[in-house]
Amino acid sequence: MVEPIWYTLILSTLTLTLTLSTATPPLNPAVNHFQQYLRINTAHPDPDYTTAVSFLNNLATSIPNLQTRTLHLTTPNKPLLLVTLPGSNPSLPSVLLNSHLDSVPAEPSKWSHPPFSALKTPDGKIYARGAQDDKSIAIQYLEAIRNIFQQDPGFTPVRTLHICYVPDEEIGGFDGMDKFAESNQFKEMNVGFFLDEGQASTNNEYRVFYADRSPWDLVIKATGKPGHGSRMYDNSAMENLMKSVEVVSKFRENQFDLVKAGVLPNSEVISANPVYLKAGIDSGDGKFVMNVQPSEAEAGYNIRLPPTADPDLLKKRIADEWAPATRNMSYHIVEKGPLRDYKGRPLITATNDSNPWWTVFKNAVEACGGKLSKPEILASTTDARYMRVRGIPSLGFSPMKNTPILLHEHNEFLKDAVFLEGIKVYESIIKAFSSFEGATP
Ligand SMILES: [Zn+2]
Repeated sequence: MVEPIWYTLILSTLTLTLTLSTATPPLNPAVNHFQQYLRINTAHPDPDYTTAVSFLNNLATSIPNLQTRTLHLTTPNKPLLLVTLPGSNPSLPSVLLNSHLDSVPAEPSKWSHPPFSALKTPDGKIYARGAQDDKSIAIQYLEAIRNIFQQDPGFTPVRTLHICYVPDEEIGGFDGMDKFAESNQFKEMNVGFFLDEGQASTNNEYRVFYADRSPWDLVIKATGKPGHGSRMYDNSAMENLMKSVEVVSKFRENQFDLVKAGVLPNSEVISANPVYLKAGIDSGDGKFVMNVQPSEAEAGYNIRLPPTADPDLLKKRIADEWAPATRNMSYHIVEKGPLRDYKGRPLITATNDSNPWWTVFKNAVEACGGKLSKPEILASTTDARYMRVRGIPSLGFSPMKNTPILLHEHNEFLKDAVFLEGIKVYESIIKAFSSFEGATP
């Protein structure tokens, strides 16, 4: 009777050893939460905000001391989740961390792994749309707070900290951060500092952004006498437009030369990139009439202005050189974001000791062994402009170092180790901000 027991015991030990040696390592709960969130498809044009908010709400309420509110500022299918870590001194201005819920579309056929599978390769790369932009920070904020209370259940925040999860950033934020910033709920929060998304860095330093460039849509239009294709005459619409296209191209070249020569980074020059040309008379068969010179021609440009640029000077240049009325040209500018705050100051957040929030932020990153590279202007635009326009100091930061910059690209990924290291950075930042009692301007 003894023998079979020993036999069973040996056999089961052997089975257990075999199972342990072949099984994948246990799932890290934070990484698992990240993967689960990435699997919720919040890509445009049909982002599933409801499932995303419900997931984040459940995650937040599993963490001690966090309070949540779901706001509907526009339509029911565009919820905004607000998570609050209340501080013991509510009279201090609060800190707001931001993450947008949406992402840009993905073309699955061009990905090596399905973009909403959040597949993790053996070397730890997690592939998904949103892995860098910006679902990583969404989970890192919460996991950092979880860790803070796990390590020190008695931790008492002094300054209140909020996290907002907003819809529609990728399509301009008009039904998202714009509406939220105008709301009474936002006013009541008395936000003193805003921390938003940043971008990955390919080296060992973290990047930080203190301003955005502001986009303008510019259309220049030429009109002129129509005429037979064989005739030579002055002031045709095509001739007038092409002269302007040359002038704008020269301006673009001069700006780009500054970048190429290393005088200024890409984000600190004015970019003026042509995006469309429209002219010609439709012959009805998908071709153009070839023996008529058209009476109208236009070109579209995507322009990006750094906050250091003078918008009035650029408008004068457009009126005098790019689309002069003397050459039968007209123009239309759609300014897609503010350039100055409510006091008329450029939308720039100070990154020196004059800004106490900067000092707290920088010290917190360094306290956990992180190093910041020279602060930068972001070449594109984020929700931070809605805060800077209200005079609220705002920084863009996503702790992803030694990582290729893959936002909006095919095969966007983030390594699990980089993701986990980012949580440590936010632990330091969140502890520092919620303990900061100093005076703020
Ligand atoms: Zn983003």
